[in-house]
Amino acid sequence: MSNTISFCELAVAGVQRLQPYQPGKPIEELEREYGITDIVKLASNENPLGASPKAIAAAQASLASTHLYPDGNAFALRQAIAKHHDFDPAGITLGSGSNDLLEMVARAFLGPGREAVFSEHAFAVYPIATLAVGATPVVAAPNPKDHPQPYGHDLAAMRAAITERTRVVFLANPNNPTGTWLTAAELEAFIADVPADVVVVLDEAYVEYAAAAPGYQEGSGLLRRFPNLVVTRTFSKAYGLAGLRVGYGLSSPEIADLLNRVRMPFNVSIPAQAAAVAALGDREHVAESVRLNAAEMARLQDGLKALGLRWLPSAGNFLCVEVGERSADVYEGLLRRGVIVRPVGGGYKLPTYLRFSIGLPRENDKLLAALKELRDLGVVQVS
Ligand SMILES: *Cc1c(COP(=O)(O)O)cnc(C)c1O
Repeated sequence: MSNTISFCELAVAGVQRLQPYQPGKPIEELEREYGITDIVKLASNENPLGASPKAIAAAQASLASTHLYPDGNAFALRQAIAKHHDFDPAGITLGSGSNDLLEMVARAFLGPGREAVFSEHAFAVYPIATLAVGATPVVAAPNPKDHPQPYGHDLAAMRAAITERTRVVFLANPNNPTGTWLTAAELEAFIADVPADVVVVLDEAYVEYAAAAPGYQEGSGLLRRFPNLVVTRTFSKAYGLAGLRVGYGLSSPEIADLLNRVRMPFNVSIPAQAAAVAALGDREHVAESVRLNAAEMARLQDGLKALGLRWLPSAGNFLCVEVGERSADVYEGLLRRGVIVRPVGGGYKLPTYLRFSIGLPRENDKLLAALKELRDLGVVQVS
């Protein structure tokens, strides 16, 4: 055994610099580490109602075919998505979650000497996908704190960050972890202003929740006008299928063909395909999930306000809340009280904030009660 080899030095340069994605803490891990039960997880923006029962039944029924490879072209799911969007099936690319789409775009269009532009405080997968293929991340300054969309995407700064080396721009609308959003007019003007040979990825992971946000409009209607646009969607959030890993991209057939060249074969499993078809068909479950989110978002905000806390405006199913300098202690204090939330210091660079996913009424009540205790102890600091 030799300990003289530094494998880190052997890794490609981008991987040496890469900080791995930090997922929300799993419930079982907190049970093991702290020996507590009755834990609520409000850390990963999952649907607190769970998946549609129809989707679960479809996934279960599909398990009899587990010995077979999935349909590599996902015929039934592709048709269902095409129908849902009234969109050409040839422009649909299936992913193992929408993260997979972000990586496919990076593999197809990025590489050494090429740049990807995204905003500070944007989704953590953009730098990972960029660095993993040896390309250069270019981080645009965000909106200032006193902007109506604090810490959100500053589109003028993003446009100014585009150079002749830029091949991809990543936009999240709404953005995670901030919750901030872009209006239809801002988005359209920006995409029209981006050079036509730069691929714009519009990540709409929270689109179902965002419909009611002032000025918001989903972006698939822009695909006809902008052949350099890729819209990504997921079944992980409002559809409640995070554990099955399924998402998709909408684009021109030409871009979809390129993405499919780098897509791993059989990247969407049999139960994931079956569940996604059933989930798309259960509009009532999505509508119910969105209604619950709106009602609980309003109630959580009332509770936070009563505690003297402030948060960033959100069009998603989560809130980025200012808890003060001791956010690490607040996070820890919430864990000890059985509530898992998401720290957004570190890579997200919002060290005085924590992100709370909107849960069921009793879960949000538990969060508020724990926050009140921590505020009364002076751990949560009210600005
Ligand atoms: C959760 C999330 C995704 C979705 O990831 P999946 O791979 O589809 O589970 C994509 N983008 C953003 C901004 C997210 O928050």
